[in-house]
Amino acid sequence: MPEPIQPPPPQTGDGLVVVDSCTTTWAFDTDRGRFTRLPRGLALSNSSADWRPYASMHVDREAGTVEVALDSAGTQLLRSDIHTGGPCPDCGHPGT
Ligand SMILES: [Zn+2]
Repeated sequence: MPEPIQPPPPQTGDGLVVVDSCTTTWAFDTDRGRFTRLPRGLALSNSSADWRPYASMHVDREAGTVEVALDSAGTQLLRSDIHTGGPCPDCGHPGT
């Protein structure tokens, strides 16, 4: 049975959330519920990125942390500090 033709999803521009930690760039594809981690400075490309599903994510820019729940129960959590624009107290980067 053929699939009904779906209209393309609207382009909101909000589907990708990128958070930099001191060593890693976290990219969240919020539309598809998946994320990937890349070494800092590497360009994000869909073909090379190792995307993993996640249940929920929370970015606390005041506290400078990002928290990712891999399952809906929240028992598998990934946490990371966010690299501040500089000077960064975590890695000592003087800023741009
Ligand atoms: Zn840093």
